[in-house]
Amino acid sequence: LAARQPITGGNWKMNPTSLDDARELAKSVAAAAGSSAAEGIVFPPYPFIGPVGEIIKDTKLNLGSQSIFFEDKGAYTGAVSASMVKSLGVKYVLAGHSERRTLFKDNDAAINKKVLKIIEGGMIPVLCIGETKEEFDANLCESVCAIQLAKDLAGVSAADVKTMIIAYEPVWAIGTGLVCPSETAQKVHKFLRAKLASMYDQATADAVRIQYGGSVTPDSVDELMSMPDIDGCLVGGASLDGEKFGRILNFN
Ligand code: PEP
Repeated sequence: LAARQPITGGNWKMNPTSLDDARELAKSVAAAAGSSAAEGIVFPPYPFIGPVGEIIKDTKLNLGSQSIFFEDKGAYTGAVSASMVKSLGVKYVLAGHSERRTLFKDNDAAINKKVLKIIEGGMIPVLCIGETKEEFDANLCESVCAIQLAKDLAGVSAADVKTMIIAYEPVWAIGTGLVCPSETAQKVHKFLRAKLASMYDQATADAVRIQYGGSVTPDSVDELMSMPDIDGCLVGGASLDGEKFGRILNFN
């Protein structure tokens, strides 16, 4: 089995509210991360990507972007392109976060275009998928995730998918304090890897790193990370506290 290096990201969402505060947060994350067990990524809001990149450039942390628009340039007011964030030093880009899907109406066709554009731009997509509470209750978790995976990865080669990150984020666990039980998450991750093996091949599926996301804290990280198919976490709330996020990067 291929050894997968753990990778954990901090999605700051629309936080913090000023550049000064973003700089402070970046400094505290950089200090707390140290030489962490997991590869770390921070995803600041667009206006803070450049300044945060300056602060973390000599650390082991990687720079991320929370989204991009799939067109290259032109009359798209308010939008930000792949090459723009790439030119700031971004390595990883989120696609398909549930807040983008619901609040900003990113559908699977748009998410697929974004994934392809991120790869074309020389960056690595972190593709977020996951079922809602209603879907979970109706036992549709696996089928919903399988459909999202197939649609969002359409046209992505095995070579490219190998370097990608998939984030399994049950919508009912995001920002709710309801962390998915680690055994349940492991079952879904194992299913996703099998699905990737059927879409591509086993070696490709074994190389893909699959993160869990949804109310991860220092209290839940160790058990989640002990699961064989959980290769890291995508962290929202707890990533806004440098010490907490540092502890999550330095899981036991
Ligand atoms: C997220 O937004 O990706 C997330 C998992 O948020 P939280 O950790 O706050 O649940």
